[in-house]
Amino acid sequence: MKLFRFGEPGQEKPGVLGSEGLRWDVSAFGEDWNEEFFASDGLARLETWLAEHGPRCPVLPEDVRLGPCVARPSKIICIGLNFAGHVKETGAEMPGEPVVFFKATTALCGPYDDIVIPPGSEKTDWEVELAVVMEKRATYVSEDEAMDYVAGYAVHNDYSERAWQLERGGQWVKGKSFDTYAPIGPFLVPAGAVPDPHDLGLWLEVNGERLQESNTSDLIFRVPALVSYLSRFMTLLPGDIISTGTPSGVGLGLDPPRYLKPGDVVELGIDGLGSSRQEAVAFEDLEETLSGSGIR
Ligand code: MG
Repeated sequence: MKLFRFGEPGQEKPGVLGSEGLRWDVSAFGEDWNEEFFASDGLARLETWLAEHGPRCPVLPEDVRLGPCVARPSKIICIGLNFAGHVKETGAEMPGEPVVFFKATTALCGPYDDIVIPPGSEKTDWEVELAVVMEKRATYVSEDEAMDYVAGYAVHNDYSERAWQLERGGQWVKGKSFDTYAPIGPFLVPAGAVPDPHDLGLWLEVNGERLQESNTSDLIFRVPALVSYLSRFMTLLPGDIISTGTPSGVGLGLDPPRYLKPGDVVELGIDGLGSSRQEAVAFEDLEETLSGSGIR
């Protein structure tokens, strides 16, 4: 069972990838993949419902648009500098504890939506990351208990405008939060279907050239540590997203640095979680793509 959402931006409906690889429209289940769903043991309820109703659900066409695989959460929390190779390529100090920043939830978009290069941006960069989706409300959770609070995992591209992130002063949030800077999906894969989230290959290609390739075994701070750590500073709500950090191979780390330009195609994936693809477009050239954020 893999969960996705489909349809027009902002009007997505719930879907499930069935065991035969068919995409089912599960609107009849009557819920979205949101805070209320996760908080009410929705994954288990959905599985029970599917056993009876799944085969009778309408099958979606291959070309249906996929939205973000979870509904807009209360928070997208990102971890910076969580792979040693990436720390090195950025010239940063090795972190003594997790580097935490937020990404605006309005940046969320579908896995195959265009990445819109903001007006004036010259340094839009890519970052393949394992995203963790929370299932239960978490406050002061221990590392030992932390995995019981996780709903599942998804592919995330933590797009980053390096000039606004690093050269314009202050916190990183400015460079991380543009509309379409957070494509997530194609699927939410429930935690029970991911044998080891710390042994997943992840990769990213730009125009077919493989630039990032690593494994989540190389994470400096692992999922239980991150959930526990974050829950000491804020309440994590069901459906909240924690993006765990990117390996080396971002544009900033290349010599010379390289950033996206209109027409570039970014593809990325994680073992067992599927792959996504975004084409870069200029803001000025494609105003309607902004609707991909689901906000407008
Ligand atoms: Mg990142």
